[in-house]
Amino acid sequence: MKPPVIVENSPIARLARVKLGTRSVAMVLGSKIHLSGATREEFLNDPYWVAHEMEHIRQFQEHGKFGFLRRYLLDWLRHGYYNIPFEVAAREAAILNAALYTRGLPLPDPAKMHQGAR
Ligand SMILES: [Zn+2]
Repeated sequence: MKPPVIVENSPIARLARVKLGTRSVAMVLGSKIHLSGATREEFLNDPYWVAHEMEHIRQFQEHGKFGFLRRYLLDWLRHGYYNIPFEVAAREAAILNAALYTRGLPLPDPAKMHQGAR
């Protein structure tokens, strides 16, 4: 998988951040990771966060852009943000795959990983 494009200060990620009420947000659209409230460096320094968003990129590829977004939004309405199955899977992937994204550094304490909305 080729490395994703990272968009800092993304207006659409800012909307998501305001909606979710979180300090920082990363949002995948297609193969791009949109950031708001976090720099590219802050994002890349958290291998759990990178692994979480890489799982969303994989989900996008599996379901297609519109398939992913339709199911994501319907599941949000049905289950609430925290219980969206795509989010549950991404939180699991964060733990399973973080070691792939450490950039040669030791794996940080999982307690320090980026916390999304609850
Ligand atoms: Zn997520």
